Amino acid sequence: MKIPKTADIAGIINKIAPVALAEAWDNPGLQIGDPAAEVKRVMVALDPTPDVIDSAIKASCQLLVTHHPLIFKPLKSISTATVQGTLIQKAIKGGLSILSLHTNYDIARGGLNDLLADKIGLSNCVPLKVTTTCELVKLVVFVPVDHVEQLRSALFPFAATQGNYRDCSFAAGGVGTFTPLEGAEPFSGTVGVLAKALEERLELLILRRELPRAVKALLAAHPYEVPAFDLYPLLNEGEKLGLGRIGRLPEPLTLGEYAGQLRRVLSAPALRYVGDPSAKISKVALCSGSGASLLHDAARSGADLLVTGDIKYHEARDAEDLGLALIDAGHFPTEIIMVQEITERLGRALVAAGYTDCQVKACRTETDPFRI
Ligand SMILES: [Zn+2]
Repeated sequence: MKIPKTADIAGIINKIAPVALAEAWDNPGLQIGDPAAEVKRVMVALDPTPDVIDSAIKASCQLLVTHHPLIFKPLKSISTATVQGTLIQKAIKGGLSILSLHTNYDIARGGLNDLLADKIGLSNCVPLKVTTTCELVKLVVFVPVDHVEQLRSALFPFAATQGNYRDCSFAAGGVGTFTPLEGAEPFSGTVGVLAKALEERLELLILRRELPRAVKALLAAHPYEVPAFDLYPLLNEGEKLGLGRIGRLPEPLTLGEYAGQLRRVLSAPALRYVGDPSAKISKVALCSGSGASLLHDAARSGADLLVTGDIKYHEARDAEDLGLALIDAGHFPTEIIMVQEITERLGRALVAAGYTDCQVKACRTETDPFRI
């Protein structure tokens, strides 16, 4: 029986949504709790509300994973005269740690904005506003020919995606030489004798931030006592990540038709839109939650429409002036979709890491605070 600790789960979440990608003002990561505490049950929710925290404690969960962080500004006191203080006390008393994602998950490849883009039928999506360009490093490793596949699969999780291609690598054969010295325990060859080995030069582009983990994986998967490998800094522009997405519909729809379609797929009770309902829409920008700040980025990128939530009156007027259609599908409907997704991804990752005695369940009681 292998039970994860809070820190192990934080590590898994950090692979899904690296904290380093978050906006400077944001505060993802462990909000409350003990990194060394064992976690047998996890609940996933959008918001750390009093009801959600109660139901996580009632369900005997030791960890609550939320999209929105509980703590944004530094606290000067934890008083139970405030809602936040009460929640902190309640969580600590109930033995519940709280771990949050947020803009790191919005920005991450395969994160909330990609999930929303998929849900609303967009393809060939790229970030709407680039916030991070991931630095790249070329990793070259020399490996006996019959161990190339093993090395390749160990390193692929850290390789950079290039455009719409992943698992990119190159290999070419050659001959490696070495003389094992006294005290060596060579994989092949004899101490004191010059050995020649058929090797391949395997090269991949690795994300700079993944380099320590990639080198660790290389050392674990390589058969040699002292693997030969080189790391090259690169001037190539790295993978671009950012807020929002822009992509295309498989075929143009009118704004009215598409608004109806979105209401159904997002299970929104209603949505508001700005623009001519008969206007043809094919290039669509989106931002889950509150994305009005991306209005001008959407217009500049040539989008016909921006789908987001939390649109204010004057922002709607600005969109009219820019000739950009808007759909305000609501903050909750555009983000609640993360609950099912993170529940499944975390569950799969725990099993893959051998933590078969940790259950992950989705919180099913959250509702949109706005009613129609
Ligand atoms: Zn949000």
